[in-house]
Amino acid sequence: MDAAVRRTLQENLARVEERITAACARARRARSEVTLVAVTKTVEPNVAAVLAECGALNLGESRPQELWRKAAGVTGPIRWHLIGHLQRNKIERTLPLVEWIHSVDSTRLLQALDREAAKQDRRVNVLLEVNASGEAAKHGIAPTDLGAVTPTMHALTHVQVRGLMTMAALQDAEACRPTFAMLRELRSRLYGEFPQIEHLSMGMSNDFEVAIEEGATMVRLGTVLFEGLS
Ligand SMILES: *Cc1c(COP(=O)(O)O)cnc(C)c1O
Repeated sequence: MDAAVRRTLQENLARVEERITAACARARRARSEVTLVAVTKTVEPNVAAVLAECGALNLGESRPQELWRKAAGVTGPIRWHLIGHLQRNKIERTLPLVEWIHSVDSTRLLQALDREAAKQDRRVNVLLEVNASGEAAKHGIAPTDLGAVTPTMHALTHVQVRGLMTMAALQDAEACRPTFAMLRELRSRLYGEFPQIEHLSMGMSNDFEVAIEEGATMVRLGTVLFEGLS
């Protein structure tokens, strides 16, 4: 790989790291509470591999087929996160590759994942995707429908629901703050019944600092990590 590409990625990563650290400091949170998930969907596996060598070991893809391709092309101690929609016919092939699935948006998908995980004798961490911004076009469970998922959560044997995920509307970061605050509030409502629900996956390139201030434990960043590549 071109030395210039490596240098650009190192610089981007360092700048993002500084911004995450500063946002944690503002919120009086420890840097270790926030995991950077580098979203590699816009780059080829060889570029993703260099970013991993620079220290970004949590990699995310939004499409299962792309995740399969990248997982085959990037070696090293990578933890793969699926952050986009998972069709049930892609569960079997995706499960062995991922540590986290951020985007479980129905009871049916949760049940299908648990069945397949049992069959493969695997454990997987998942997050429930919540449509906290209320936009009609967004995937995710409506906040008022979360309660209907909880009986299924008690019955799971191989899948662990570890938190909630949301995508804010594409607007300026400050305007996303109420969406992020709502996800945190939904988590605290579930926490009594499900103490393993500790994660909040929220925040993308344009709004991750606000998300961290509002309690994000995972930020999903693509654009800011790969800008400046020729
Ligand atoms: C693409 C994508 C991201 C990263 O978005 P950027 O704005 O490029 O940082 C985060 N989350 C999901 C679900 C995505 O599809």
